[in-house]
Amino acid sequence: ATPMSIMTATGRGAQAGVLIKNAEALERFEKIDTLIVDKTGTLTLGKPELVAVLPEPGHGEADVLRLAATLEKGSEHPLAEAIVAGAEERGVALGEAEDFEAVTGKGVKGRVDGHSVALGNLAMIRDLGIEPGALSDHANARRDQGETVMFVVVEGAVAGLVSVADPVKETTPAALTALHELGFRIIMATGDNERTARAVAARLGIDEIRADVLPEDKVRIIKELQGQGRKVAMAGDGVNDAPALAQADVGIAMGTGADVAIESAGITLVKGNLDGIVRARRLARATMRNIR
Ligand code: ADP
Ligand code: MG
Repeated sequence: ATPMSIMTATGRGAQAGVLIKNAEALERFEKIDTLIVDKTGTLTLGKPELVAVLPEPGHGEADVLRLAATLEKGSEHPLAEAIVAGAEERGVALGEAEDFEAVTGKGVKGRVDGHSVALGNLAMIRDLGIEPGALSDHANARRDQGETVMFVVVEGAVAGLVSVADPVKETTPAALTALHELGFRIIMATGDNERTARAVAARLGIDEIRADVLPEDKVRIIKELQGQGRKVAMAGDGVNDAPALAQADVGIAMGTGADVAIESAGITLVKGNLDGIVRARRLARATMRNIR
């Protein structure tokens, strides 16, 4: 491409809130056939809200929420913020946590009110040698609605669950339809569990899901697809997504996301809406057509 045509394209992109880092990103983007999208904060608003607290018999709703929220004060994860905000809205007073520890992609643990407490997904509680038990059916029903369920473990036994919902961005469904029409295969990658992922993917017509994914798995998935000859773009917003954005042929960061994600990406969508990808593709095509 001529420097002039590239400057025109990047200038038009910038006006529309699509920041294209350099000529290489634009040129590569024209050849992309596969788009991997992170779920939380990319397809969804990334502003989860606490929607349910279900205690096991023998435990109170307020107690379960107090233990969970007290522990989550130590975490910066959006799910943690949802649980803390939910407790505050419900007038539940928080305590002080000790020995706090975050387990990446799984949850958090520590001590509250002298009890050992852990909170997280199935992988988290299985690491502790625990199975979900009686709450399992409730958990699945909520996941089928696209909610994220976390188990609260007190002294080595499940005391309840908390469930959080993160609405899909208003612009996501139309953007995905347009991206399909442009010929992208769309794969959703998420640290969330398979059941929740499937419920969200079904609503959006996503081609394929990779669930229960740890940050390092995202890089592996991209390498695998690249090994099959696919040209892969990855869209994400989180600190955790940065290595995958760097590995992709083109990384696409949400401007609303973490700085390190933006630094690792070739394209940044200022408003964090996926319709920016549609625009980027059209710009890339128009630019490349001019030079051939
Ligand atoms: P993603 O951003 O794709 O949802 P993460 O790797 O951040 O993925 O999280 C994966 C899963 O790990 C979450 O869906 C949740 O079940 C669990 N998890 C991570 N951090 C926390 C936390 N602070 N509190 C509770 N659960 C957590
Ligand atoms: Mg995310």
